[in-house]
Amino acid sequence: MTDSQTELFREHAYVGGRWIDAADQARRAVDNPANGETIGHIPDLEPNRLQGAIDAADAAFTRWRETPVTTRADKLLAWYDGMQQNREALAQLMTREQGKPIAEARGEVDYAASFIRWFAEEGRRSNGVNIPAENADMALGTVEEPVGVVGVITPWNFPLAMITRKAAAALAAGCSVVVKPASETPFSALALAALAEQAGLDDGQFNVVTGDAERVSKALCDDPRVRALSFTGSTPIGRQLLRDGAATVKRMSMELGGNAPFIVCEDADLDSAVDSAIAAKFQTSGQDCVAANRLFVHRDLYDAFVDRFVERMNAMTVGNGADEASEIGPLIHERAVEKAQALADEAESQGARVFGRAQAKAPGPRYFMPTLLADITPDMRIFSEEAFAPLAAVCAFDDDDDVIAQANDTEYGLAAYVHTHSDARIRKFMRALDYGMVGVNTMDITGPHVPFGGMKQSGLGREGAHAGMQEYLETKYYCLGGVPV
Ligand code: NAP
Repeated sequence: MTDSQTELFREHAYVGGRWIDAADQARRAVDNPANGETIGHIPDLEPNRLQGAIDAADAAFTRWRETPVTTRADKLLAWYDGMQQNREALAQLMTREQGKPIAEARGEVDYAASFIRWFAEEGRRSNGVNIPAENADMALGTVEEPVGVVGVITPWNFPLAMITRKAAAALAAGCSVVVKPASETPFSALALAALAEQAGLDDGQFNVVTGDAERVSKALCDDPRVRALSFTGSTPIGRQLLRDGAATVKRMSMELGGNAPFIVCEDADLDSAVDSAIAAKFQTSGQDCVAANRLFVHRDLYDAFVDRFVERMNAMTVGNGADEASEIGPLIHERAVEKAQALADEAESQGARVFGRAQAKAPGPRYFMPTLLADITPDMRIFSEEAFAPLAAVCAFDDDDDVIAQANDTEYGLAAYVHTHSDARIRKFMRALDYGMVGVNTMDITGPHVPFGGMKQSGLGREGAHAGMQEYLETKYYCLGGVPV
């Protein structure tokens, strides 16, 4: 490891500006999915230490909310600069614990940092409004105030960006934050905490706790001082957190699962649609909530699309993400490989054609060789379940209305993609698809300036953009009587 990698590699939780362990020294191991080697250990914090983190965040909140917005912005920008200066060390660490190809990890560092810069600037624009009064001696309006302590629970597929997308918005709004990263990828979060400390966010504004997920979420959900909970992860856990947070009526933001349709109309540019489909399916080795899960291709283009997709897919390099040549890395667990294999086997037994290289050629037990299932039908499990693996699935369609109905026939509603050159179709699909985000002729839909989020059971609320700040702000209305006329 280089000096900067060593400096950012922390095996302690970060609470109230201090690096702490469990009182009983309990720890859990974290491994590298590429080869199973142990990378390090994190504390398994017990309830009283978790309570201590909420105490620290609560005490910090009263100070942080009163800190001038320019000072808050300066600290966030220093945090952003720290990420940029340590881009390579952060990327290498992320690849070691998450497995993603190093080029994607570098991209994620930039993406994650971009939220900090964007919200540092947006914090200055949390304006209230003036409300015209009905009586001349009254003045009415609103102010936007930080909601309070925010709990943040994040997944392993984007170990930095899922944190900064929430925490930067909350901190810019004047909230303090307690983050619980995924147990598979805590070191990226702890490196972020080391950089937060260097940036002066060292007074309990930003805390990272580690340990048993249910224990941490119970501490966050049960404590009435935690006023908001922002979660990214699976829909079943999201549902449970909604139930658990109800007892203290918390503000809930939920970024949950997806089942993205990717629709290629008869007038689409085939090459660009294939390029886009390859990226939309295989980035993050398919472990992405906005990954294209069902490819719908017009029958006129279907055979050519399948041929070109398979040619591109079979040319992709599968290997350890630390190798610059790798385009697809390992999956996070062996059970993710088993799930992908089961989805593929079931679909094949129900009549799907299977394309791809033999799984026996996979470089290790957590790798799944990129695969395409052609001619899928709605009764196959792949049609309704997120693959979360480099497993693509495609079917042909004949009619726009039919494909819209099929695309919408899911409990999810996160991202959808359409390729067409017809203006009328673009308008029709944009309106008719029940998805929070629709990409037309592109899969490159995210960024700090856009409201990311889902409809239906893909979530509640939005992250990024002005809407992302609103998740952490309360609107306080004031009514002043007796104003001199
Ligand atoms: P997950 O199992 O729901 O885990 C996500 C987080 O929740 C982790 O920190 C995990 O902690 C924690 N957790 C697990 N069990 C919990 C419990 N009983 N109570 C409270 N917290 C609990 O999801 P995942 O498998 O890591 O991530 C994949 C899912 O996330 C996919 O469905 C994907 O679509 C979704 N996702 C959505 C978005 C979006 O923006 N919509 C983005 C990325 C991913 P431990 O790691 O300690 O178990």
